[in-house]
Amino acid sequence: MMWHVTTVEAGAEPTRRWHAERAWLAGAQLAGAQLAGAQLAGAQLAGAQLASDVLIEARGARFTAVTPGTPAGSVPPGTVRLPGLTLPGLANAHSHAFHRALRGRAGMGGATFWAWRERMYAVAERLGPDTYFDLARAVYAEMALAGVTCVGEFHYLHHAAGGKRYSDPNELGRLLIRAAAAAGLRITLLDACYLAGGFVAGGDPVPLAGVQLRFGDGSAGAWAERVSGFGCDSLGMAAPHARLGAAVHSVRAVPPGQLPEIIAWSRAHGAPVHAHLSEQPLENAECLAAFGQTPAEVLYDAGALGPRTTLVHATHLSERDVELLGGSRSTVCMCPLTEADLADGVGPAPALAAAGSPLALGSDGHSVIDLLEEARWLELSQRLVTRRRGHFGVAGLVAAATTAGHACLGWPEAGEIVPGAYADLVTLPLDSPRLAGGGNDPLAVVLAAGTAADVRNVVASGMDVVRDGHHLLVDDVPGELAAAIGAVLD
Ligand SMILES: [Zn+2]
Repeated sequence: MMWHVTTVEAGAEPTRRWHAERAWLAGAQLAGAQLAGAQLAGAQLAGAQLASDVLIEARGARFTAVTPGTPAGSVPPGTVRLPGLTLPGLANAHSHAFHRALRGRAGMGGATFWAWRERMYAVAERLGPDTYFDLARAVYAEMALAGVTCVGEFHYLHHAAGGKRYSDPNELGRLLIRAAAAAGLRITLLDACYLAGGFVAGGDPVPLAGVQLRFGDGSAGAWAERVSGFGCDSLGMAAPHARLGAAVHSVRAVPPGQLPEIIAWSRAHGAPVHAHLSEQPLENAECLAAFGQTPAEVLYDAGALGPRTTLVHATHLSERDVELLGGSRSTVCMCPLTEADLADGVGPAPALAAAGSPLALGSDGHSVIDLLEEARWLELSQRLVTRRRGHFGVAGLVAAATTAGHACLGWPEAGEIVPGAYADLVTLPLDSPRLAGGGNDPLAVVLAAGTAADVRNVVASGMDVVRDGHHLLVDDVPGELAAAIGAVLD
């Protein structure tokens, strides 16, 4: 049985084919898979969505047909065999590429979040266009090796020292878009408005100082004018692999009166909006002292919440905050490993999901780049807090790493192996010591013990990016990371 989609245009590109031993398929294909007599594993939802012997076809960047139950002996010549488990592409919904330089350098020894931020500022101070491109390309290549096919880059380092504009005021944003292409990823550049260094009681903003001057545009109006200079098409695309989104760095950095202009820009362009929210208790305390409202309430009153909006972290929320986020169908992007690394706390992920918020995942400060670990710790962190198991289930965890992440980045047609979707495939052969002996439920064993190191093949937008564990566009990823980090840190 075939699922051909007539809306996928027949271009000049040849049809590519893969044959997956096991693949995680969208629910819509489940009925068809059963009709086709595919071997479906397990009685759980996760098992029910795992199909065997799946012939996957693509032309250009999109899947054209997905056929479970195709015997290996009957696939067309040239079909690439994918042993083990094949997942849709993973979405890393929250990244600050240059923070990767801080891995292992500012985590231990009792340093606080705020001390970590000072180290981060020191890196930001030293980055120029050349060093930033090299670092970002290497970091995105590391992501590709981990199975990430789309990244949401929360970008706030816009200008040169002292806030001086580059001749192209969007030079660093364009550089990140080029870096993603060079590493084989799609990207949503979440261009962040960053206007203030906090606020004092009463709500007056603290002027930017030092390296923060590189982040600021002066006003939301000036931010919108600069961002409009990207010259995106009517669909918000900056390039075939790149779309633009808006970001509010946080309520600390954008005074409430400036928010409506950012929201208006996002609505006019159909663009996603992302914002850091309540990562630290101090942010909430200062916001309450300044405005008599929580950060979530400030965003709600400004009309900033909704299905196109994603709140990052959402660690310290009141019950009303949870209602506002869930009721507005805002996505929440959890970054469990960064939140652990920075001692932020554990956010109320199950309550948010129950209230209506889709959950996505990001590696944020990149203390680790591993979406499988992030998914695992979305569940395990709740077990530690509640002393109960089973908060999300494997289907929920896979959705957080795939469909929810892509959707909140403005790519709803990605994250599923289904005709018409972006042709992204992530294959784990299940032959490592960590995964061997997983039996008939490979997804369960991958979520229990799989890591980025188990990802062996990655296809993104129909293009081979990783083959046999080797990045095809960036030959020496560790070497390039070491060189790029060495250029900005002593
Ligand atoms: Zn962040």
